[in-house]
Amino acid sequence: MKKIQMVDLKSQYDKIADTVNASIQEVLNTNTYINGPQVHEFQKGLEIYLDVKHVIPCANGTDALQIAMMGLGLQPGDEVITADFTFAATVEVIALLQLTPVLVDVDLHNMNISIDRIKAAITPKTKAIVPVHLFGRAANMEAIMALANEHNLFVIEDNAQAIGANCKFSDGTKKKAGTIGHVGATSFFPSKNLGCYGDGGAIFTNDDALAHTIRGIVNHGMYERYHHDVVGVNSRLDSIQAGVLNAKLPLLDSYNKARQTAAMKYSAALQAHKNIIAPIICDNCDCHVFHQYTLRIIDADRNGLMQHLLDKGIPCAIYYPIPLHLQKAYLDVRYKEEDFPVTNQLVKEVLSLPMHTELDDDQITFITDSVLEYLNK
Ligand SMILES: *Cc1c(COP(=O)(O)O)cnc(C)c1O
Repeated sequence: MKKIQMVDLKSQYDKIADTVNASIQEVLNTNTYINGPQVHEFQKGLEIYLDVKHVIPCANGTDALQIAMMGLGLQPGDEVITADFTFAATVEVIALLQLTPVLVDVDLHNMNISIDRIKAAITPKTKAIVPVHLFGRAANMEAIMALANEHNLFVIEDNAQAIGANCKFSDGTKKKAGTIGHVGATSFFPSKNLGCYGDGGAIFTNDDALAHTIRGIVNHGMYERYHHDVVGVNSRLDSIQAGVLNAKLPLLDSYNKARQTAAMKYSAALQAHKNIIAPIICDNCDCHVFHQYTLRIIDADRNGLMQHLLDKGIPCAIYYPIPLHLQKAYLDVRYKEEDFPVTNQLVKEVLSLPMHTELDDDQITFITDSVLEYLNK
């Protein structure tokens, strides 16, 4: 059996080496390292794939979130509501811009931001909601947009983990996660569903004026060369990374399909066990692109199981071990433990199994057998 890895980028690369190498070579041949034609090609390709008017590439997903908030003109003291259970980048940029992060609990069944908790957290100072499509599952954007419209709030989607996922609406329409709010942000960190071979990110919006503002912000606040109208940043996707992404974008749907197939195989073997709550997978499900395959382990020793898997050479991880409201950097006297029952529970239960595009049946069977072996002993 091939060695099991949490993310197997090497096996994926081996299959696309010719196209990726040619893309990179093209940049080297033409010396167009910054703002080369590859970047423009990728921008256009992603606009078509996502069916969104504007994609603005940038240096990484954290920058994408920060620039989105700068573009919306959020001001120090504005309250921004986001999920307590996510990667810290989401709340970090809120704090960096001197906005006030307001962390709220998530829902147990999908681990995404709780609509009721958002409602309860809205104050006259609230300016924006940042839903995170956690682990690849689209958050309930219909409810979030309704709430945002009612209270006149911006919605910034953190789509770093869910590129390619579809959000379904009650009228039957579907839209890509990240393109529904006023602005969306994503990351092309190598292990993400669409990953480059370094750092990369992008911002998406259907709003022409906001896109224009953001294009200036990513380029030192310049709208005309050497005229700095606003305080901006320097955040670019370089041409080599864009070349890698051009080679991989046409494969994104097949990559997400491979993740979904692996997830279904995991769940088929594990979901009936009394100590396991497997992620919900709906029929023809495309609202979840399985950036992570995350189990909840209940009434059993989750950490013991994790050690058992590691001892057998099966990588696995706890995403995330500490709720954000308990992280030193984000402590706030307003937070009360009873407001975070779900996150406080999830950090004790979650366990993410290896998830990538190259998992084979032997590996999946070995992993699920090893999980069951421990829980049944
Ligand atoms: C990866 C990630 C980010 C940050 O992306 P970088 O490219 O690493 O800066 C932000 N939010 C979430 C939810 C992520 O998973």
